[in-house]
Amino acid sequence: MFEKLSFFFWKLFNKKYINSKKQFISISKTGFEVINLLGDTLYLYKWEDIEDIYFEDENHDNLIIVDSKNVSISYPKSTINWIHFLKTVPQNFKSLDYEHIANYLKSLKYCEICGYKAVDEYCDVCSAETWDDKFLEDYESKEEYLKEEQLDYYAVMSIYEHVDFEQDKDLGFEKDINYKIYVSKEEILKHSAEFYYD
Ligand SMILES: [Zn+2]
Repeated sequence: MFEKLSFFFWKLFNKKYINSKKQFISISKTGFEVINLLGDTLYLYKWEDIEDIYFEDENHDNLIIVDSKNVSISYPKSTINWIHFLKTVPQNFKSLDYEHIANYLKSLKYCEICGYKAVDEYCDVCSAETWDDKFLEDYESKEEYLKEEQLDYYAVMSIYEHVDFEQDKDLGFEKDINYKIYVSKEEILKHSAEFYYD
């Protein structure tokens, strides 16, 4: 049900900002799973087990999920896959501010690393940090930064996997028509062999 998860974690652990994130949510058609960054499942729910979902306050940065046994869990914006969750959540929860969700999703920006419209503070699809001029302390140019991030984003775990430039399209995020890939298949495979192969 949640394939590719370990690979996802593996990539995430290479990210500089990961320490600021505490948990991850994995979503399927039937439900979702909340996982900590060690890979342990904290909660596993089917949508039908959920009684209600609502934003805790007017900042809209913390979701409260109430299950059918009246147990509440808190799902803060800092959770990985927060945006994907808002995009996927069924339309039948009586206390959920769907209008806010629609406006929020509209306000997202395109990611220059993966191309999807999924960027708030970070990209919800590739988890990369948006380019900032302060990165010039560590990178020669913006293009060098985008290239490095794309090498990680498109990396594969073994020689049996293929590089997929369309990866994550099933998540349903809109893709920027001006999106540019700065890395070649050969470069990705070379990078994968060096950093990702078992
Ligand atoms: Zn991205």
